[in-house]
Amino acid sequence: MKISTKRAQQLKPKPDETRLGFGTKFTDHMFNMDYTADKGWHTPRIEPYGPIAMDPATMVLHYGQGVFEGLKAYRTAAGRIQLFRPQENFRRLNRSNDILCIPRFDEHFALEALKELLTVEQDWVPRAPETSLYIRPTIFASDPFLGVRASHTYRFFIILSPVGAYYPEGFNPVKILVENEHVRAVSGGTGEAKTLGNYAASLLAGQKAHDAGFTQVLWLDGVERKYIEEVGAMNIFFVIDGELITPALQGSILAGITRDTVLQLGRMWGLTVSERRIGIEEVLKANASGKLEEVFGSGTAAVISPVGQIAYGKRAITVGDGKVGALANRFYKAITDIQYGRAEGPQGWIVPVA
Ligand SMILES: *Cc1c(COP(=O)(O)O)cnc(C)c1O
Repeated sequence: MKISTKRAQQLKPKPDETRLGFGTKFTDHMFNMDYTADKGWHTPRIEPYGPIAMDPATMVLHYGQGVFEGLKAYRTAAGRIQLFRPQENFRRLNRSNDILCIPRFDEHFALEALKELLTVEQDWVPRAPETSLYIRPTIFASDPFLGVRASHTYRFFIILSPVGAYYPEGFNPVKILVENEHVRAVSGGTGEAKTLGNYAASLLAGQKAHDAGFTQVLWLDGVERKYIEEVGAMNIFFVIDGELITPALQGSILAGITRDTVLQLGRMWGLTVSERRIGIEEVLKANASGKLEEVFGSGTAAVISPVGQIAYGKRAITVGDGKVGALANRFYKAITDIQYGRAEGPQGWIVPVA
């Protein structure tokens, strides 16, 4: 398929790179394509960034049939632009499509479209240390129809947003609250998909945790409320007595690409790495016997987010000495060094753009 390009008449002024924040500023252009049953995915185009007019009956607004991704483009010291494992994001987007009854798209084509959009927008990839251009591919149900069924038409778009350093004040451990009332997802549900409703369902618990002075919610399984699943919208890792542990993917956990990156690097470094069930009681017990060395979250936005304190009901623990652990530091540095081109990663992890 040939991608058409319509340039914006006027370009926006570029924002101050030292105060980018997250997700508030958008570039001059976006990618769009549409799906209809007769044509499949068609009319791929790069157009000026702007509002999407829709019928009030558009299905996604009523039943949440939509999926998205989050990845970043990084500028290297030499001024080049590169992506980190983007094929994995498009593969996961198609897996989310399967779960939400949305037709699959050609992953190879989507990556080419993204590269073309990034080439048009290359001046928007910021240069300040640890900044990046956040990429949000999204697919939504576009039939104007109020019956409950899968839509027959869809829109696929990609928008870009320059984002600031996640840790402008340095790498700081956060306080998290174990959530024992609300759950994020259950096995058999949509937890494995990056789909709209999962985030809506997490807001109330997140707000309560914030009001109580915590940064994130630590989610337990929806059946027994015993086993650890994720932290906020990140995957989670524990280091107990030298073993690097993350909950196994069993249907309700989002398969993070940063999670997979940590697992692969950990194995390459010769660490003892386990994907298994881990209960909150095991974590508290390990802490009581002095064996809980580190806890950290993993995700594209923060890369690694060290956890300093965990509260569970009336109990509260400090992880290790409450400071950033050695492995959290090592993973953060290793992953960001690869993303910004300061170090070479395994074959295929870096996709050059321009
Ligand atoms: C996106 C996301 C993650 C992290 O995935 P990455 O690919 O590492 O960014 C983890 N959990 C949830 C619920 C997510 O939405």
